[in-house]
Amino acid sequence: MSQLNESQDRENPEQSQGAVLDVQGLTKRYSGGVFKRNSIEALRGIDLQAGQGEVFGILGPNGAGKTTLIKVLLGVVKPTSGIAHLFGQSVGSVEARKRVGYLPESLRIDRHHTARSALAYYGRLSGMNATAISKRTDELLDLVGLAGRDRESVSRFSKGMYQRLGLAQALMHDPDLLILDEPTDGLDPVGRNGVRRVIEALREQGKTIFLNSHILQEVELVCTRVAILARGKIRGVGSVEELTHHLSSETYLLHIESNRPSECADQIESLAQQIELDTERLSYREVTDGQFELHVSLNERSQLDALVDCLRENQNSIQHLEKKRPSLEDLFMQLVGDHGGRTE
Ligand code: ATP
Repeated sequence: MSQLNESQDRENPEQSQGAVLDVQGLTKRYSGGVFKRNSIEALRGIDLQAGQGEVFGILGPNGAGKTTLIKVLLGVVKPTSGIAHLFGQSVGSVEARKRVGYLPESLRIDRHHTARSALAYYGRLSGMNATAISKRTDELLDLVGLAGRDRESVSRFSKGMYQRLGLAQALMHDPDLLILDEPTDGLDPVGRNGVRRVIEALREQGKTIFLNSHILQEVELVCTRVAILARGKIRGVGSVEELTHHLSSETYLLHIESNRPSECADQIESLAQQIELDTERLSYREVTDGQFELHVSLNERSQLDALVDCLRENQNSIQHLEKKRPSLEDLFMQLVGDHGGRTE
């Protein structure tokens, strides 16, 4: 996948100059144990650039190094080697920090606060005066859709409202870069949509957003570019379209009607073996009596013909066959698969 990174670099040669975020050859080794025998290389030579107005998503399985990367960008973890700049300044410098807002994964706002008093509190922490706080609070309550709810106790807020207030606190000092750590985790679709709308409004204002999320559909919907991180290395960078374009497998959706529905599940598994298809590349569910929906991810087109032949030989009638646009999830599974975690 380094090829993808290289081509990305070639396509954006100007990005490291004037980039909002510029990371080159970044490594982080956590030393562990007395003789550092248990040291862990959380980041192993990361190169990343993000420009103004981008919503840049970072994806990866557990233990990939995402939190470490965010901590380096926030200046709270010192890298072992490499370059990490924000707005051309070293991460952690006062100049860089002033321009960054951060929404942590589990922000805790004291329950006694209202939205307005909470924002006033965070404004004071940023060194803002009362007039600036009041003006900014009104703007942000409007932006995050909490105008009119500003005097209610946050203890009565839904999770979605709470997260939108979290976004507002990160924006109090009007940062140019917003780092969001799992901003939609635990939210229902309505809550996720609310957060997404705020992110889109911020992008329109020209803010840059660095988003860590494990909700792939979310990333697909909102991010202009995505980096996939696994075991401390970047496996691919680009827009979802650019990345999925490189996928070697093709995904198909089939609707079939079986004359022998009770045997259909067994048949499907045995035909996967016949056409030498990994069973994890094939999923199916019974939609209604005798009607099945199959999702298959194929490495070679010839497997599709074989699959159709096998299905028909087994008395199944094919009602619908459709080639699916590869999703970020397909890419993620291909790059990271079941072995992406730091288990080895
Ligand atoms: P998750 O999605 O589970 O939060 P992550 O992608 O954020 O994972 P990190 O938390 O950055 O991954 O961890 C990367 C690796 O570094 C893991 O193997 C983790 O155990 C290790 N690690 C993280 N922090 C420390 C630390 N302070 N000391 C030692 N090892 C650490």
